Amino acid sequence: MEFDLNKILRDNIKKLVPYSSARDEFKGDATVFLDANENSHGSPLPDSYNRYPDPLQWEVKKKLSKIKGVPPQNIFLGNGSDEAIDILFRAFCRPGIDNVIIPSPTYGMYEVSANINDVEIRKVSLTGDFQLNIEAISENISPLEGDREGATKLIFICSPNNPTANSFDREDIEIILNNFNGLVVIDEAYINFSKQKTFVNELTEYPNLVVLQTLSKAWGLAGLRVGMAFASEQIINVFNKVKPPYNINVVSQRLALEALNNIDQVNAWIKETVAEREQMVLALVQLPFVKKVYPSDANFILVRMNDARQVYDYLVKNGIIVRDRSKVMLCEGCLRITIGTKEENVVLLNSLKEIK
Ligand SMILES: *Cc1c(COP(=O)(O)O)cnc(C)c1O
Repeated sequence: MEFDLNKILRDNIKKLVPYSSARDEFKGDATVFLDANENSHGSPLPDSYNRYPDPLQWEVKKKLSKIKGVPPQNIFLGNGSDEAIDILFRAFCRPGIDNVIIPSPTYGMYEVSANINDVEIRKVSLTGDFQLNIEAISENISPLEGDREGATKLIFICSPNNPTANSFDREDIEIILNNFNGLVVIDEAYINFSKQKTFVNELTEYPNLVVLQTLSKAWGLAGLRVGMAFASEQIINVFNKVKPPYNINVVSQRLALEALNNIDQVNAWIKETVAEREQMVLALVQLPFVKKVYPSDANFILVRMNDARQVYDYLVKNGIIVRDRSKVMLCEGCLRITIGTKEENVVLLNSLKEIK
């Protein structure tokens, strides 16, 4: 497999001269900053917000680097992983020409982002046991060679997968990484809850690998909007060229930096969530209207029921909101239930037990 980043990049991005901010052009110590048209008096808030943030968020990346074992120059930070997903489309996929492969069912943002960018989606159904269908994926790839009619630029692999909750077989993912000369985007939003090993330490092995992670799930920072992409320095440079100059604001950078000191707390929550998940699986299978509880490698469970909509409506009436996935392919009749605190899980179970 020959991988050449220049062959998959859009021409306009190859030629793009990126925006150069005041903070890009002068780095170093000075006492008087009159280069960015900021308000030198200060801000009306107790903390000082009058200066633009570090465009490349080096302090946050250095701390993440220690936690993840990935050099800072191999990390991109986005306004949520959703920003990284959008940049992948904008940098690599020619609107109206190229296509991407999305195993289905999976996280809905890949499709929305493709549609916003006018990029063709090739949905490839997962197998009956929610695994990747390697042959069907392979058959749907349009080669880069002779790509006037469009090439397959990205394959999205969400593992553990949302909403099915399982991880894909590592060997299948490796087959795709070894044989596809576009980018393989592995979304590891739920990796902290999984028995599977992350791919972030395989970047030197696979030049076509992009791993997405986020602070929104296990780290408990969904409100902060910080997502990460890990990839070769070459690919990260493309992300940095295309992103808005100050995409992570001062507050998010400062609070992310502070939060990353609390890894012990996060690990304790992960342990508790996984233990609760296993308890919930045992309790849910006991319910008479539950047909199947799918094994989970994430912080949620997919449950098949006799009448999912009726159960959903009943829970809503009791002030409990779960996700109705019953109209999603292969998930017919299923609800997706996030694992909450011990107390929340008890409230949910008690409510479900009242259903006749
Ligand atoms: C929740 C989720 C994300 C997180 O997105 P953010 O924009 O970082 O909050 C990414 N991928 C998947 C599959 C998810 O379920």
